[in-house]
Amino acid sequence: MNFAKNVELIASPPKSGRIDVLVPRCLIGNGKDVLGTSIDQEGLSSIQIEWRDGVITSIKGLKEISKGPEEILLPRFTEPHAHIDKAFSWSRSSNLKGTYQEALAANLSEYELRSKDELIFSVENSLNLALVNGIRAIRSHIDSFGKSAMRDWDLLEDVRKKWQEKIFLQFVALVPLDFWQTYEGDLLAQRVASNGDLLGGVIAPPFNKRRTFQSLLHLVQLANRLNCDIDLHIDESQSCSACGLKLLLDVLGQVKNEISITCSHLSSMGLLKEKMISHLARKMAKNKLKVVALPLTNSWLLGRKNRSTLIKRPMAPIFQLQKAGVVVTVGGDNSNDAWFPLSNFDPINLMAFSMPIAHLSPWDRLGLSPFTSSAAQVLGLQWDGVFQKGSPADFILLDSNSWVKALSDRPKRRVVVNGEFLNELPKTKNQHSQMISHD
Ligand SMILES: [Zn+2]
Repeated sequence: MNFAKNVELIASPPKSGRIDVLVPRCLIGNGKDVLGTSIDQEGLSSIQIEWRDGVITSIKGLKEISKGPEEILLPRFTEPHAHIDKAFSWSRSSNLKGTYQEALAANLSEYELRSKDELIFSVENSLNLALVNGIRAIRSHIDSFGKSAMRDWDLLEDVRKKWQEKIFLQFVALVPLDFWQTYEGDLLAQRVASNGDLLGGVIAPPFNKRRTFQSLLHLVQLANRLNCDIDLHIDESQSCSACGLKLLLDVLGQVKNEISITCSHLSSMGLLKEKMISHLARKMAKNKLKVVALPLTNSWLLGRKNRSTLIKRPMAPIFQLQKAGVVVTVGGDNSNDAWFPLSNFDPINLMAFSMPIAHLSPWDRLGLSPFTSSAAQVLGLQWDGVFQKGSPADFILLDSNSWVKALSDRPKRRVVVNGEFLNELPKTKNQHSQMISHD
């Protein structure tokens, strides 16, 4: 197949092009543009898109074509939950048993010894992969409780500047919850808030209810004082179902909260009875809580028992949350570290592996949105990833004419960043040296 045959690059001006593609109908913002265009059984429509100076200038339905387009067009993706600071550390910090407890222990000892070069390797490797795989924004949690925390945040600030044209980065300071009550915690919070980043923490059983309530209350008050959002690792467990969420809702019942709170994982909530799930989901919607479900790491880590396969898996109840009006997105979480040995910042891989686990389908609007528009919404991005005139020409093109093939065949892909195909972009000097040293 001639991979480029549907493309017609216009000679001038730059960052422009026109392409015939298949687009999921739910990702087209204005129905009028494509009125009367047919939709196939997987929800894809044949569309012509034109862009100029990095911005979409025209979207129209293709009619009466003898042969349909052979590529699927998707917006560049948003990764709502990553750990770029420890990605690709598996070789020096493995976890062959695959349990949560062993992952935590391996992470703590790896973090204590993590050198500046190792941190840079993890981060740059993650970003290089994310870019070629078609990711435009990442929210990454950053281990921030050790003596190297400030050094790491300085370094990450440089990385963010270097990458800002290609990938938008948002960081979450990941610390034990009590840390925010310390002097160092207060200093870190001010720094995080002044950069527009987020405060994080972990609430997983077993925990002391009273103490955790106090720590959580302090964190929510601190975040409101600093006008800084929160993203918590909460209820990543197979026991004490939704204990952390219930505490959080109790806290929110006592304080006025005006910042955005994301609940990452929320795995044990899925083990509750349906009635309780919808009761809590409604309360979450009322408090505008957002959710990042992480099916891959949950399936790998949680509820492991020697020689006994767990059938009922802890995972955020995505449908019930969506039904209650909660914004839910699906993230990749860890890559090639003690928490999860597989994965590689590839959003198509993430879809292919997490969709069967979570019963999400790419041809359903609410099956696709956790990977596209909801992820952009959780990060508060300007563009929600829906195509319309005036939106950025930020695409990935999959060499496939159906979802089933796209998610089965690992199709070739092309990435368009701000109107330009990725292989046409000039490489930065640092990126080039990174590739030489680690390829
Ligand atoms: Zn995580």
